[in-house]
Amino acid sequence: MSHSHAHDTKEHLLAYAEKRAGAMKQRWTSTRAEAYDALLDHDAPITAYALLEYLSNRHARDIKPASVYRALEALCDIGVVVKIESLNAFRACRHPQEDHQHVFLVCDTCGHTDEIADHGIGRRLTQEAAVHGFETARQVLELHGLCGDCRK
Ligand SMILES: [Zn+2]
Ligand SMILES: [Zn+2]
Repeated sequence: MSHSHAHDTKEHLLAYAEKRAGAMKQRWTSTRAEAYDALLDHDAPITAYALLEYLSNRHARDIKPASVYRALEALCDIGVVVKIESLNAFRACRHPQEDHQHVFLVCDTCGHTDEIADHGIGRRLTQEAAVHGFETARQVLELHGLCGDCRK
């Protein structure tokens, strides 16, 4: 294991997200706070639609799809939520205070998704791309397979 950090508490992460939003001049609306809170409760990535349903049930009110999409966009912008492109789903980053690139391990059987916080792999790819005269704007590093539990 390259990482020995304990996961931050939920309260800590919520406070951090609100602070980041302020620093980046993003509004911290109740839908954004609720969306982030819900994502922190989910270990598996969740689609925007499933999140909308979850929030509507949990808070017993009508939430507009557009505000959930905007909330997810804002949470990604401030760096506390990441999109798993191959699943078109979202997940809370477990250590947003650390500068890191995401490498996701997605279990195709149970949907569990782990993140490897890595600094080396992404940088190497960016450098390799530059050798080809390519300027990288965005990296998507996702590995699909079977998680430890499903392999048992
Ligand atoms: Zn992360
Ligand atoms: Zn699994």
